Amino acid sequence: MQNTINRENSAQLFEEAKQYFPGGVNSPVRAFKSVSGPPLFIKEGNGCIFIDEDDNSYVDFCCSWGPLILGHNNARVREFVIDTVKKGTSFGTPTKLGNQLGKLILDNHRYVEKIRFVSSGTEAVMSALRLARGVTGKNKVIKFEGCYHGHVDSLLVKAGSGLATFGVSTSAGIPAPFAQETLVLPLDDKEALSKALEQHGKDTACVIIEPIPANNGLLIQDKEYLQFLRDECTKHDVLLIFDEVISGFRIGFEGAAGYYNIQPDIITFGKIIGGGMPVGAYGGSKEIMSHIAPDGPVYQAGTLSANPVAMAAGYAAMQQLLLPNFYENLNNTTQLFAKVIQDYAEKQEWEITVPSIGSIFWLNFSKERITRADQIDSTGMEKFKVLHHELLQRGIYLGPSGYEVGFISAAHDNNSLAKALQAMQESLEIVFG
Ligand SMILES: *Cc1c(COP(=O)(O)O)cnc(C)c1O
Repeated sequence: MQNTINRENSAQLFEEAKQYFPGGVNSPVRAFKSVSGPPLFIKEGNGCIFIDEDDNSYVDFCCSWGPLILGHNNARVREFVIDTVKKGTSFGTPTKLGNQLGKLILDNHRYVEKIRFVSSGTEAVMSALRLARGVTGKNKVIKFEGCYHGHVDSLLVKAGSGLATFGVSTSAGIPAPFAQETLVLPLDDKEALSKALEQHGKDTACVIIEPIPANNGLLIQDKEYLQFLRDECTKHDVLLIFDEVISGFRIGFEGAAGYYNIQPDIITFGKIIGGGMPVGAYGGSKEIMSHIAPDGPVYQAGTLSANPVAMAAGYAAMQQLLLPNFYENLNNTTQLFAKVIQDYAEKQEWEITVPSIGSIFWLNFSKERITRADQIDSTGMEKFKVLHHELLQRGIYLGPSGYEVGFISAAHDNNSLAKALQAMQESLEIVFG
């Protein structure tokens, strides 16, 4: 095996990109800051494989950070998008395709009676917060350390010093008063939650959580905790928002809400819902959604919202998720993949576990089950850097950070998974060797 794959063209394109874009990228995590070498410039993908500008091909476990549950370049999505785009890309009017995707979701999701399409996950979350504030007439928001909700001002916030103090922003450019509207709590801590709601419930519009936190490791919560959260919110007249931008249509068609059988007041979607195009959405009961303009006083609009090309991609993708056994097969494949790595690691007594749920997995450089952000061992990230490099040499692509989860798509066939497992074994041997 050659020691380093040729990344010359990617390196050159990255140098050029730095002249155009801050850090050479249009979204920061793409910059490969926590792994080695220049980011790969990808030119095409098919199924579970993508190919970079140096003609190296990789089995892709990033899947565009989650949207591609059917893999790259799914034939039915591609054909439907091409048919649609031939008739124009956007009209700024309602379209039949929007109705079709809306109906498909509402017919198959118990907890969504009305939905509004937007163009990204961030936009969905931002709108959901405004809706919660509009419905309740309250301002404060509770979020959890280790959950990511897009780059919304009042959610780029971490806990202030001391218990139950309001937050401080994690980004420049956010006025302190915005961050101070947000209270940040640890996950999986009933007492902290009860206390916060006891103290601030009367000023709090909503609690927002990733019910399956998957942006800072995979911090799978107990159902009992999520049910407790639901009950506490109800008790204090605080709306519960499930941010299902990752978990929605990933864990099953009804996402985490369906998986845990817990009804949030508002759900946000993104990623999978657009079939690889920029789509986000938020939804809930008819009553709550009636507060949105033009029915109600909460304003939210979008020039390209629900444009026909994006709706076509979403519709063609989502129809396939409803085929018999789609999730069962995909989830079984994922559980098995994770188990093989985990069993091997256990045998070797390596300090690593592979939590997984639905078709999401994570490499946790610890032997313990982890439910809170502060339990993540940051020294594992050095190991991840080596692992990432070794896997790239063997044609396996993971998202370029140890805090990121991996995704398996329906296009990940047995051959590719076997190749990945072999590569994983060899690479972990180097990491722990
Ligand atoms: C990706 C993500 C977002 C942001 O979505 P964008 O489309 O990147 O704006 C919000 N919440 C969660 C849980 C996400 O995973």
